[in-house]
Amino acid sequence: MKVFTVPFMLAMAGGFAVLGQPHPGRDRARILTGWGGGKAADVVPKAAAAGFAELVVHHENTEDFASFIALGKQHGIGIYAWLYLGDLPAWKRAYPAAAPPLQVMTPAEDQALKRIEADKTPGKSQYQFGGEPVNEVEALTTPLLCFHDPRVFKAFCKQIDEMLRVPGIRGVAFDYIGYRNYRCCHCPVSRNQLAAYRKEHPEMSREVSLERFSFETLVDFNNRLAAYARTVKPDVQVITHIYPVYLPQPLYGNHLDLDVCGQTAAWYFKPLWSVAKIGAYSRIIATEAKRYHARPHGAALIGYGKDSAKSGKRLTAELQAILDGGCSRVHVCSLNAVLNNPAAAAAFRRFFGGEPARVQAGQE
Ligand SMILES: [Zn+2]
Repeated sequence: MKVFTVPFMLAMAGGFAVLGQPHPGRDRARILTGWGGGKAADVVPKAAAAGFAELVVHHENTEDFASFIALGKQHGIGIYAWLYLGDLPAWKRAYPAAAPPLQVMTPAEDQALKRIEADKTPGKSQYQFGGEPVNEVEALTTPLLCFHDPRVFKAFCKQIDEMLRVPGIRGVAFDYIGYRNYRCCHCPVSRNQLAAYRKEHPEMSREVSLERFSFETLVDFNNRLAAYARTVKPDVQVITHIYPVYLPQPLYGNHLDLDVCGQTAAWYFKPLWSVAKIGAYSRIIATEAKRYHARPHGAALIGYGKDSAKSGKRLTAELQAILDGGCSRVHVCSLNAVLNNPAAAAAFRRFFGGEPARVQAGQE
């Protein structure tokens, strides 16, 4: 799920809000988090009007990021810095002379990837871009770093240091922490670590050891990064969206000892998930959140792109199923796609009670 940057067109109807004052319309029991970007002066007031309480944005442009935090404070919106496993510039800043240790897939998976990349048909033959696949073999088109390489952990610790130096930041949001083939990595570092794991666990079959090693190291990487962030700033909030899908166990988010774990409850693309599936996933996300750790809250993620097949009515049905399933925290990506579509923004506002929009001429 990329943090998209797109132009902003939305003009919301409504009254006027006084900056810096609480907005009684927002439902405090529900928390809406948007993953996006753009210019703070455009985005933050519109996000507040649509009911967002938290935003995840890029931190690299110091001035933009500071504006998000300052405006966020005025509108009661917490700001998170976006950390993602495909961030090759972050690697380069930490290790300028070393090639990035990228994840490696099998030849069959590489071939599937080539087919996906060459597919220019509308809808890309139902390719799901890292969500639960519809087709037999899928892989993520975005290259990802291999977190089995200890340098990757160090590179992201360095990035967390950078992020948490910004005054007023609420926290860090993890993204893309997973496997490009949705299961494991076959690079030399991963193969060596797997061989050592197999020596420690001779009772496991090859398949079981590969799956257990891949799962345990995925969970461990998340938990070590979050623990590191807490050593830098004890009151930091660490949140995530589980993505790309981990096929052996799609709803594994409750293994992560983070503050909020966003898991997909309604994916972007056709075939759109049934309302029954959205409700069932939401129930698991809400009720199983604290199964392994006391800290995490569950959150349901809705995918919504700028060319989304989802109408306002459809979004309303998805949100209703999520709330009925017990998830009071909802994440949506892309924030900007929602803000740019009045019907979509209205659907979220209906459930999350946004701040009255400021549309008086000259005020925006
Ligand atoms: Zn690897």
